[in-house]
Amino acid sequence: MDFELTEHQRMIANSAKEIGAEFGPEYWRKKDQNSEFGNEFWKAICSAGFLGIVIPEEYGGSGGGATELFIAMEELAANGCGMAGAWYLILSEVFGGLSILKHGTEEQKRKYLPGLAKGDIEFSMALTEPNAGTNTLNINTTARKEGNHWIINGNKTFISGADRANGMLIIARTSPCGSAGSKASGLSLFLADLPDKAVEISPIAKHGVNYSHSCNVTFSDLKLPASALMPPLDGGWHNVLDTLNPERMSFSAVGIGIAHLAITRAVEYSRERKVFNGVPIGSYQSLQFPLAESYSCLEAARLLNFRASVAYDAGKPSAEVGAAANMAKAIVVEHAIRAVYWAMQVFGGYGYAVEYDVERWWREINLTRLAPITQQMTLAYIGERVLGMPKSYQA
Ligand SMILES: Cc1cc2nc3c(=O)[nH]c(=O)nc-3n(C[C@H](O)[C@H](O)[C@H](O)COP(=O)(O)OP(=O)(O)OC[C@H]3O[C@@H](n4cnc5c(N)ncnc54)[C@H](O)[C@@H]3O)c2cc1C
Repeated sequence: MDFELTEHQRMIANSAKEIGAEFGPEYWRKKDQNSEFGNEFWKAICSAGFLGIVIPEEYGGSGGGATELFIAMEELAANGCGMAGAWYLILSEVFGGLSILKHGTEEQKRKYLPGLAKGDIEFSMALTEPNAGTNTLNINTTARKEGNHWIINGNKTFISGADRANGMLIIARTSPCGSAGSKASGLSLFLADLPDKAVEISPIAKHGVNYSHSCNVTFSDLKLPASALMPPLDGGWHNVLDTLNPERMSFSAVGIGIAHLAITRAVEYSRERKVFNGVPIGSYQSLQFPLAESYSCLEAARLLNFRASVAYDAGKPSAEVGAAANMAKAIVVEHAIRAVYWAMQVFGGYGYAVEYDVERWWREINLTRLAPITQQMTLAYIGERVLGMPKSYQA
């Protein structure tokens, strides 16, 4: 067992620290306020090669794994970017890069991976539907074969980056639920090129992360070539887990990063701020202990998240990856939210002022309990799949 980062991982971490410091809180405060994409940041992560971290050299990337990607995400977040440090990487490199790398055909890999690695292609994933929500197997978007084409119809919601994306991973029903033996059968994955006049996209006004828009998406007879199917037909659910697991791990990495950023700023402030008898507020244990406790729990969560990512990179079964990934996320959600809560408390009234940024990290960290999987469903996964307890609900 070795807890040291490799030379390559240290280089990625150092480069992420520099970019995080360059695109710090003030930059993202403006981007969030103006609902503006971070173009300058995007260029910086492209030239650092971050969009190609998981993509093999033969397709233009640097041939690392998800572990290296999560190191970059955490350091970007912790050194100034907050949630933005991971967001664009999740859209393009997890939804695009990892999905296609794991399950794309050779033709799909050659078509998308080089552009994704350079940052010329931005990606998105359309899974969530208004009427299905967490019950993913209940989705209604359909893909029907017509000659040599697929015709897609349906509605998706909260699809992040859809308004800018050149590519989209679509999860659609190709056979009725359960028709091929198991409830998880009958779903298939498709790769679509955007924009397309058959795809209507409208951003949803939201609480935070406004440097990226999450959108309602309607497919009205979207026509895709036969080659758009990411095989196997009807067996997409098991394959999409290879995208959903690293998405969860990404949220853990960035959650730890946001908490570190907020804790660091709160500690600095607490050493300076004096309100009674010239004593810094940081000496009060009521402020110290919750930060110390959450910081320690997040250190433990990082190790568990690395266990998940190392298993993922080694091609271990998704159940093994999923167990560690969900347990790590359960801890991160509790303790990163708690850490940012107490960081805000350290700032007192100033914690409520936009210029101190902690209110933005508070809005950002709260997303981790809602997406990409809610905290209840994470705990249900652990209860059912790790502990073997009975399931209380049916798809
Ligand atoms: C900012 C943002 C960005 C997003 N980006 C994307 C994206 O790019 N692509 C995409 O496909 N999706 C995206 N999502 C969707 C996200 O994954 C879903 O919102 C999330 O999975 C929860 O689904 P829901 O909102 O429909 O909640 P619901 O399923 O309606 O759940 C509502 C509540 O009920 C609880 N609940 C439901 N069932 C159970 C149960 N059996 N036991 C206990 N509690 C239960 C849930 O935990 C939750 O608290 C995004 C969401 C947000 C907010």
